[in-house]
Amino acid sequence: MLYQSTRNSSVKKKASEVIAKGISEEGGLFVPENLPDLQEHFSQMAEMNYRELAKYIFSKFLTDFTPEEISACVENAYASDRFNGEEPVRLVPLTKTGENKYLLELWHGPTCAFKDMALQILPHFLTVSLQKTAPEKQVVILVATSGDTGKAALEGFRDVPDTKILVFYPQDGVSPMQQRQMCTQEGDNVCVCAVKGNFDDTQTGVKQIFTDKRIGALLDEQNMLFSSANSINWGRLLPQVVYYFYSYFDLFRNGTIKSLEEKINIAVPTGNFGNILAAYYASKMGLPVKRFLCASNSNNVLTDFIRTGVYDRRREFYTTSSPSMDILVSSNLERLLYALAEEDCSSVSGWMEELASTGKYEVNQKVFCKVKELFFGGFCDDNETAAVIRELLEEENYLCDPHTAVAVNVYRQYLQETGDTAPTIIASTASPYKFVQNVLGAVADASDPDEFSNLNRLELLSHTDAPSQLRGLKDKTVRFTDCITKEQMAEFVLQAVCSDRS
Ligand SMILES: *Cc1c(COP(=O)(O)O)cnc(C)c1O
Repeated sequence: MLYQSTRNSSVKKKASEVIAKGISEEGGLFVPENLPDLQEHFSQMAEMNYRELAKYIFSKFLTDFTPEEISACVENAYASDRFNGEEPVRLVPLTKTGENKYLLELWHGPTCAFKDMALQILPHFLTVSLQKTAPEKQVVILVATSGDTGKAALEGFRDVPDTKILVFYPQDGVSPMQQRQMCTQEGDNVCVCAVKGNFDDTQTGVKQIFTDKRIGALLDEQNMLFSSANSINWGRLLPQVVYYFYSYFDLFRNGTIKSLEEKINIAVPTGNFGNILAAYYASKMGLPVKRFLCASNSNNVLTDFIRTGVYDRRREFYTTSSPSMDILVSSNLERLLYALAEEDCSSVSGWMEELASTGKYEVNQKVFCKVKELFFGGFCDDNETAAVIRELLEEENYLCDPHTAVAVNVYRQYLQETGDTAPTIIASTASPYKFVQNVLGAVADASDPDEFSNLNRLELLSHTDAPSQLRGLKDKTVRFTDCITKEQMAEFVLQAVCSDRS
């Protein structure tokens, strides 16, 4: 299997090159040149456990990895003690109110968000890839995060030999629990720093460092190279394909669907469009999906795109109760457009150039029709999000986080509009305890300024237990307190990576 760039289809790279590089030279994203059709193997796949299924699917894509290498990556990443259970994901039916919905809990990993599903395995993929492509180099992972990616990447890369990881987060853009998670991070190769400004400022700063020739040369002198753990890296998308298959087979195993041809819907709370894109790729590999429900918060640029074919980022940016979806440029949409435009890389390049220069583009009729047919776009605001959290607790005795609540709200909009009662898998992307203040605020009156007394109250109120790794943060030492301006980021990186040149 080789990979092409969305902006130049004549680029052909192996999996290891694509994972080591992250992004293609001309700015495009790597995509597989064809997707294997797995339908004829479904009855076999339905009998596999999560790790077996992951190995099977990865073997179709990582064709320059040996079976032993793939197996070691999977066994290390998805060991039962890392995901708090025999299988790393859980499917929870919430059907008491007659709705045919199933929450796919993806947050049982070490950092309590779905990012662990990919970031627990990416370091293993990357280590193998670097052995094949640049064996003598040390890699420096730079991350700009709105909260969940940063912590998941730190936890994934901590103490991984020959890597260093630096995470930048916007000073006022993350939840107190997320900040605490990052600033208490353990490990000898990690560094965390706040940036004055919002997520876009942070992200712009990191992108500038990636392309800064002076810094690149200095790193090269030290025998180091930059890499990215953001979801533009194929090594982050591929692991996410697995759980859509796994949960579909779960519906079959528990009798909700009667045949391996029955169609379902998939609803995903969406930010950078990575998670929902993985569901789309699963369907291209044979998974029977009727409709993808793309759920946004008040930053509803994707809802508008799906309804009109116009992507327009020129709008107010809102800070919401679902911060991991506060994003106006969804990078992975580029990969969908490439697929829907039948790999016409010049159209895709044109749209992306327009977006960069004017903040807006409009896709052609053919692509727009396909988008509308496959996707349903919807959004809700913070009040509606809180209402869902309250309702689910009352109706189903189930406590969900704000991101998941947004997806449940959009599923209900879809149900109302279409009357489609097909089973629907809703991606549940974070533990409610990661956003304890907002969640408590939704189910009780005014919350305390102290995160941990809120956590205790939420446990009592919902009769659920907070994950031990969040509860335990209370007693951890804060290791990182730096806060810098965007302009200081480059110097900060140089100091951090060159400080121990031994
Ligand atoms: C990252 C994240 C999302 C958005 O996922 P994308 O793949 O960026 O669309 C949704 N919910 C939570 C909790 C997240 O951390």
